[in-house]
Amino acid sequence: MPQITLDGQTDWHGWRTATRALVLSKVPPEDVHWAVRSDAHDGGNELPAGANGFHVPRTLVTLASLALQARDPQRFALLYRLVWRANEGEKVLQLTDDTDLHRLHRLAYAVRAEAHRMRTMLRFLDVEENSNHRFVGWYAPAHYVLEANAQLIARRFPNLLFSIVTPDGGAHWNGAELRFGEGADAFVDDAALARWWQAHHARLWREARAGASIPEAESLDEAPRPPDRPALGPVVLPVHADPQTLEATDSAAACRRCPLHQTATQTVFGEGPEGASVMFVGEQPGDQEDVIGRPFVGPAGQMLDRAMEEAGIDRRTVYVTNAVKHFKFTMRGKRRLHQSPEAPEIQACRFWLDVERVQLRPKLLVLMGGTAARAVLARPVTIGRERGRPFHMADGQLAFVTVHPSFLLRVPDEDAKAREYRAFVRDLQQVRMLMA
Ligand code: SF4
Repeated sequence: MPQITLDGQTDWHGWRTATRALVLSKVPPEDVHWAVRSDAHDGGNELPAGANGFHVPRTLVTLASLALQARDPQRFALLYRLVWRANEGEKVLQLTDDTDLHRLHRLAYAVRAEAHRMRTMLRFLDVEENSNHRFVGWYAPAHYVLEANAQLIARRFPNLLFSIVTPDGGAHWNGAELRFGEGADAFVDDAALARWWQAHHARLWREARAGASIPEAESLDEAPRPPDRPALGPVVLPVHADPQTLEATDSAAACRRCPLHQTATQTVFGEGPEGASVMFVGEQPGDQEDVIGRPFVGPAGQMLDRAMEEAGIDRRTVYVTNAVKHFKFTMRGKRRLHQSPEAPEIQACRFWLDVERVQLRPKLLVLMGGTAARAVLARPVTIGRERGRPFHMADGQLAFVTVHPSFLLRVPDEDAKAREYRAFVRDLQQVRMLMA
């Protein structure tokens, strides 16, 4: 009985190569034993040599590539059996009452659903790595969907350095290459994940420095060195540290108040320390925020970070959120282009902004852009006329209007852009004085 040992739980190439050789050599399914390589295994597979090729329906290949990621030890045999039967002339995909086909569909569906769930549930910590930001997230997938999801995120955000850790293994993207390494069991909280990352990072550096060839270490840094400060960057406490807000966040995740939930990946709530006296309000999550699940981590967020730093505001001390919690976009080719939310969407989502305001009770609201101002003041606002002049709202709370940092990114002329940036920093300096 031929034993086929695959290189990993998702070794699609290995399974396909073996399947092709076995089918062509007429090895029946019941004669093949499938296994996944353990560390102890040292040899390759001795595959029978077969001649010519054979045709398998494209849909079957697609379903098989999904089902291969299922956490089901029998899947390799099931997939081989279906390919074998298709090659024998059976129209397996057209059968209405076939156990193998039903199982194939069930596994493919479960994998697709879990891949989506993982992208929706993943929350990333922003950790510092040699002056860069790296986003580290942990998730325990029900199926082997880490690799496919990591590839998808790397394709969509090539400039974003990220690591995804799961009990099965970790995926690390360095901007050019995706590498896979060891995993980790559950973390009790974000701080534990940050500590694990710090230790992991330091270990990789030590081993790389000792001359060991460690693919992960190569992928993490061009010239690895240990972090000279704690790996956890700005300590941004997710708002759901508060059990009351956790309820709100969970409810918002299922919110159907407006149609924006239909296409976005997830709700993106605000974040900042409990007791923050200032709440910055933007428009809505962008493309990156939608996937990562955190506000202001994309280009506009980086612009805001820079301006805050210049103005002397520590982002760790303020709460940052958006008026609308779901990403609104339109597709252009494969790209998701931002679309401004309409008044009814702003009005619908004001409910969640009010939840945040009631729970945080900030002394000062910084309204960045027309959408934020409209959401809070419940009227259209001309930014040019109202910016830079703090005022008290009807409930006595102090408010301050300025531009949204994404406005600065859109100014086409470099001189004008620099002028606008200086004006934004001046606004933030005023905010800092109001905070005192
Ligand atoms: S955008 Fe706001 S109101 Fe609309 S579905 Fe999302 S959370 Fe609900």
